[in-house]
Amino acid sequence: MADRLLLRGGTVLTVDPDLGDLPKGDVLIEGDTIAQVAPQIDADAEVVDASGMIVIPGFVDTHRHTWEAAIRGCAPNATLGNYFVEILDSFAPLYRPEDVYASNLAGALECINAGITTLVDWSHINNTPEHPDAAVRGLQEAGIRAQYAYGSANTSLNDYWNNSKIAVPADDVRRVRDTYFSSGDGLLTMALATRGPTYCSDEVVRAEWALARELGIPITIHVAMSSAGRFGMVKQLGDLGLLGPDTTYIHCCYLSEEEWRLVADSGGTISIAPQIELQMGHGWPPVVKSMEYGLRPSLSIDVVTTAPGDIFTQIRAAFGADRARLNATSWEANNDAPEHELTARKMLEMATANGAHVAGVEDRTGSLTPGKKADVVLLDATALNVAPVIDPVAAVTLCADVSNVDTVLIDGQVKKRGGKLVADADAARRLVEASRDYLVGELERKRAGQPPA
Ligand SMILES: [Zn+2]
Repeated sequence: MADRLLLRGGTVLTVDPDLGDLPKGDVLIEGDTIAQVAPQIDADAEVVDASGMIVIPGFVDTHRHTWEAAIRGCAPNATLGNYFVEILDSFAPLYRPEDVYASNLAGALECINAGITTLVDWSHINNTPEHPDAAVRGLQEAGIRAQYAYGSANTSLNDYWNNSKIAVPADDVRRVRDTYFSSGDGLLTMALATRGPTYCSDEVVRAEWALARELGIPITIHVAMSSAGRFGMVKQLGDLGLLGPDTTYIHCCYLSEEEWRLVADSGGTISIAPQIELQMGHGWPPVVKSMEYGLRPSLSIDVVTTAPGDIFTQIRAAFGADRARLNATSWEANNDAPEHELTARKMLEMATANGAHVAGVEDRTGSLTPGKKADVVLLDATALNVAPVIDPVAAVTLCADVSNVDTVLIDGQVKKRGGKLVADADAARRLVEASRDYLVGELERKRAGQPPA
C-alpha cells in the first residue's frame, strides 16, 4: 500500500519511556503517522530495509537564526559582542526578502540533511513585511516541521537593541499569523521572537508579551548570556509580571539561583546552544544546572556564522563541557571525579523529546510513539565511524555525524534516502551563494563609503 511504510529490522531507539529500545525492531508508518512499533510487524506496506541502521526520532533544534545560512562561517572568531557588530549591525540591514528566502530554504534543507526534523526559526530579520513571507516560504518549500518565531527588524543596532522603543509591528504579526498559521496544526506553527528587558524599554516588552498572549502564541527570548547576564532579564520579566509557561529562555548561562527558580516555578522552557556558548563567551552551557531545577533542557544551533549547523556537534559540546566543569570542581575540592548524572542517553533525550517539549510540539513529535507524526531518522551504523555498535545510544550521541544520516522522514514523507536529499540541494545552494555574493559585496561597498550597487 502506497501510504504504508514499514521500516524493517533496525535498532530502534524510541525515546518513549514505555517502549524503550528495541535491539531489532520494526516501525510501521501509515500516512503521516506512526502506527506501530514492535520487534516484528507483518503488514501490507512498502518495506524499507533498516538492517544495519539505528532508527531514532528526528532531532529538534529549538533556536536557529536560519536567515544567516547565506553568511555561513563569516565570523569564526567572534565573541557575542563582535557578533552584534559583525552580523546584526553589518549584514542584517542589507538583507533583502530573497536573501531570507534563500537562507531559510537552504538552512532548512541543511537541517533535514543532518536529521533535524523540527526547527525553531528565530527570525529577527523582518526589515520589511515581505521578509516574514519570504522566511515562511523557505520553510514551507523545504518541508520541515518548524516553529516560525516572528522577530523584529534589524536595520539598526542602536534602534533595535539598545533600550529599543520599537515593538514588533503588531498588525503584521497578526497578518502573518492569519495568513499562515490560523489552523495551529500542519507542519508550521508560530511564536514571537522577543528581545526583552534592557534591549527594549519596559513599554515595548509589555506590548510584545501582550501581543503574544492575545494571539495565543509562545514567546522565545535570549537571556543571561555573556556580560548581559548581569542585566537580570528574567528577574526584570518577573517584576513586570510577565513570566509564564509559554516562554522559552535561550542560553541562561548566567541566571541567578533566584532566576532559575522563577523560570522553573513559572513553567518556562530552556534552549541551550553549547558550542556557541563555549566559543563566543556566553558562559557555561547550563545543562545539569537546568536539570537540577527539574527542567527539561533542549539543544539549539543558534548561528551558522560561527559554528556548525548540526545537533551532533551540540551534543558533544554540552556533554564534554558540563562534565569537564563538574570534574574540575570536584578535583579542586580534592575529591574524585563525580558520578555524572549527565549521560549519553540524557543527551539523546535532550536532542529529541526535550526539544519537542520546548518547541511546543511534544504531542506530535520527539519520540517514536504510535499516534505521533512520523518524524524518523535512520542512521547508518555500518559506517566505519559508527561500527561496530555495542551501545546504540552511544553510537548516536558520541560516534555518529551528519555523514551517517541515511534516511529522514518528516510527517511520513521521505525527505532523504540513501544519504541523499530528495529536494534539489544544488538549487538551494546556488541561491545562498548568490545571496552571499550580494551581501558580501554590499557590505564591502558600505564599508568603503560607496552607495549600494
Ligand atoms: Zn540566538
